[in-house]
Amino acid sequence: MKNVKTITIIVPAYNEEEALPYFFDRIKNVVDDIKNYNFEILFINDGSKDKTLEIIKKYKEKENRISYVNLSRNFGKEVAMIAGLDYAKGDAIVFMDADLQDPPELIPELIKWWEEGYDDVYAKRKTRAGETWLKKFTSKMYYKVLQSLTNVQIQKDTGDFRLLDKRCVNALKKMRETQRCSKSMFSWIGYKKKEVLYDRDPRIAGKTKWNYKKLIDLAIDGITSFTTSPLRISTYLAIPTFGALVIYFIYVICKMILITHKIDAYQAIILLILFFSGIQILLFGIIGEYLGRIFNESKNRPLYLVDEYLSLIHISEPTRLDVI
Ligand code: UDP
Ligand code: MG
Repeated sequence: MKNVKTITIIVPAYNEEEALPYFFDRIKNVVDDIKNYNFEILFINDGSKDKTLEIIKKYKEKENRISYVNLSRNFGKEVAMIAGLDYAKGDAIVFMDADLQDPPELIPELIKWWEEGYDDVYAKRKTRAGETWLKKFTSKMYYKVLQSLTNVQIQKDTGDFRLLDKRCVNALKKMRETQRCSKSMFSWIGYKKKEVLYDRDPRIAGKTKWNYKKLIDLAIDGITSFTTSPLRISTYLAIPTFGALVIYFIYVICKMILITHKIDAYQAIILLILFFSGIQILLFGIIGEYLGRIFNESKNRPLYLVDEYLSLIHISEPTRLDVI
C-alpha cells in the first residue's frame, strides 16, 4: 500500500496489567474503524514489576500492529515518552496513557485536524472525572505559576494526550535534557497548534502511579528546566536586603554620633545575623538547584537504556539491545 500514512500510538506503561486488557479492546476497536491509515501501537514498558510486558507480548502474537520497547528499568513517564518518540515509525504520533483516561475515540478527530495542516493537535480537558479537588487545584496553580514565569504560551488543562506531526517529533527528539517537562517542551517547539476538547475519564483499572512527592518533583523540574526566573529571586531579595542593611547602618552610626555615643544593639545584631544567614541559605538552595542540573547535563548520559525492541517488521524475536 503506497502513500498510506502511518500513525504511531505511543503508550507508556508502568505496572498496567490491570488496565491493559481494557486498553487493547478499546484501542483495537478505534483503529479498526479508521480506514486509510496504518497504525503502529508502540508500548514503552517502563520497567514494570508486574505482568505488563508479558501481556503486551501476548497481544503482539495476535495483533501485529503492536510494537514495544522494554526499558531496562523504570525511568519515569517523561523519559518513556522520549523513548517512544525515538522508536516511533509513523508520520505522526499520538501519546496516550494506558489507563484509558485519554479516550481513544478522539483519535479520528485528532487526525482530521492534522490533515487540515495542524502539527500539534492537543486534547484539552473539559472535565476531569475521578480526580480529587486537591489534585485539580494544585494542577491549576501549577499552570498559573508556570505561565507567569515565561513568555511561551502554555496550554491550560492539557496533558500529554495529543497528536504530533513528524516535524514536532523530530524537534522533540533534539531536546535531550535529563530533567524533562514535556508540557513546556510542546509549547516551546511551537508549530501550528489546534485544541480539541474532551472529557477526561477516571482511570479504568489499577492505581495512579503518581504521588504528591512525584508531582512536586515534576513541578520543580518543569519550572527550573523551563526558565531561569527562580535565579532572579536571589537578585530581587538581595536588593531590598542590601537596602535595609545600608539604612540600618546609617541609622546605627547616626544614633551613635548624635545620641548614645555607643552601639548597644547586640540583640539587633543577632537578629540581623539570623536574617542574613537565612537569606544566604535560600540563595545557596537556588544555586544548588541549578548546579545540580549542570552536573546532570554535563554527565551526558543516555536518557534511557533499552532492554529489547520488537519492531513491526521483526515479527520473529525481539532484538536485545546494548548501548548504541
Ligand atoms: N507511567 C510510566 N512510568 C511511570 C509512571 C507512569 O510510564 O513511572 C505511565 C502509566 O503507565 C500511564 C501514564 O504514564 O500510562 C500515566 O500515569 P498515571 O495514570 O498513573 O498518571 P495520572 O493519570 O494519575 O496522572
Ligand atoms: Mg492516569
